[in-house]
Amino acid sequence: MSRQPLRVLAIGAHPDDLEFQCSGTLAKYAARGDTVFMAVVTNGDIGSATHTMEEIGAIRKQEALDSAALIGAELIWMDYHDEFFFYNEESRRRMIEVIRMAEPDVVLSHWTEDYHPDHSLSGMAARDARIMTAVPLIVTASAHLKKIPTHFFYDTLAGVNFTPEVYVDVTETFATKQQMLACHKSQTAWISDIFEGRSIAQMMEIQSAFRGMQAGVRYAEGFRALETFPRARDYSLLPLE
Ligand SMILES: [Zn+2]
Repeated sequence: MSRQPLRVLAIGAHPDDLEFQCSGTLAKYAARGDTVFMAVVTNGDIGSATHTMEEIGAIRKQEALDSAALIGAELIWMDYHDEFFFYNEESRRRMIEVIRMAEPDVVLSHWTEDYHPDHSLSGMAARDARIMTAVPLIVTASAHLKKIPTHFFYDTLAGVNFTPEVYVDVTETFATKQQMLACHKSQTAWISDIFEGRSIAQMMEIQSAFRGMQAGVRYAEGFRALETFPRARDYSLLPLE
């Protein structure tokens, strides 16, 4: 049976969050012909112990572009300062505009109970913007949407405070996921200094394998559906096959 291609918007707080938590799924969407947007909320400009904020911000944008290019995704660079994303009127309007611009069938965002403020607040902003994207009197640069997108939350770092209710088998796209994460070269050295000598590549593999063990496959990514009215828990919008 032929399937209409989907438009998918994944929203991550920092350059590398999407690669870590849902790029195996994004690679599956892209491989089957869906259109994928990767929105990065902050510019990662504190992600260095040696560069200036401007320098590291520019480096991280290029790394995010390189990663998105591996699956033919379009990068949306929102350019808030790293660690200083706040949820207010301006950021709500910005989130509405980003979702309208991508015109997605599916939005993937951080879990709103994530312990990191950039993660939880951007997850809330994305969740709350969802219905407003279809309200004509909320005016942004792009036209209001005709259809409210379906929203899923992806996993937290190390799975803290997150119990998946649906798993996407990413065994086949795991190598691509590794390559996408590896684009974020600037994060490798200093992150392993912080996390007991574990590289982000190792942490990602442990988590993907753990979610895979739960799902009965080699590697998986876990998701939860947004509970809302109108009911939007349509798992068939995830690339489960
Ligand atoms: Zn992050």
